[in-house]
Amino acid sequence: MPKPGAPFPAVTGACRCGGLRYRMESAPIYNYACHCPDCQKLSGSVFAAFSIIEAEKLSSIGSLAPKMSLNVRPPGITKQIAACPKCEIPVWVTEDDCPAILHIRIGTLDVPNLMEPDIHIFTESKIDWIKLSDNAKTLKGDFVKEEVWPKNSLFRYKTAIAKFQQALASKKLQDESTESSEMDKTPTAQSPEEKEDDEAFEKRYLDVEKSLQERLEKLSLKLGEDGKIEAKDENAEGETVKVVGV
Ligand SMILES: [Zn+2]
Ligand SMILES: [Zn+2]
Repeated sequence: MPKPGAPFPAVTGACRCGGLRYRMESAPIYNYACHCPDCQKLSGSVFAAFSIIEAEKLSSIGSLAPKMSLNVRPPGITKQIAACPKCEIPVWVTEDDCPAILHIRIGTLDVPNLMEPDIHIFTESKIDWIKLSDNAKTLKGDFVKEEVWPKNSLFRYKTAIAKFQQALASKKLQDESTESSEMDKTPTAQSPEEKEDDEAFEKRYLDVEKSLQERLEKLSLKLGEDGKIEAKDENAEGETVKVVGV
């Protein structure tokens, strides 16, 4: 990984036909190689190597936009693969449930040699004839970001996730408020005889407002004093949990 603070050179990459081109606008958050059976199958090779970066730090500089398709994941988890619509080469995948973080396939970089993996994971299923250097960091299974990532990488990652969740929460809130205001309008506009009296209307209006406020409060994020981002878990009443990878 380049040294933090150093100016980042223009690192570019593309699919095989060159239609889907990109430029990394900053150093990656983290580089890793994965030797899990899933990555072996998906890459058609014996391991896969990725450079993690915020989506907002990846510029599209080619003539084609990526074609997104759903990667098969356990139920409830969404992960998209971005491929060239012409040559169909996959170039990056999104983080589970979070398109704000991208995992770029290192082999699509113009100079893949730049991004040496910081760690090799799932070496339990590594092919025997792949020999890693003695000083390579390895893990038998997956990494826990908090344990192996540099502080700065973790901060960048959590900031991007928090921004995404915040945008999602305000969109949800907007949708709900549109829905409820439509529900409010329909009976009064179409059936004047069913019109509520002012008091009932006022009460219902306050109830809706209250529930929206509560929802907003539950979903809102806050930045802790130590720079860590915390979010209130929607499912656990009143309990504050740290935002970890999604
Ligand atoms: Zn292409
Ligand atoms: Zn893998």
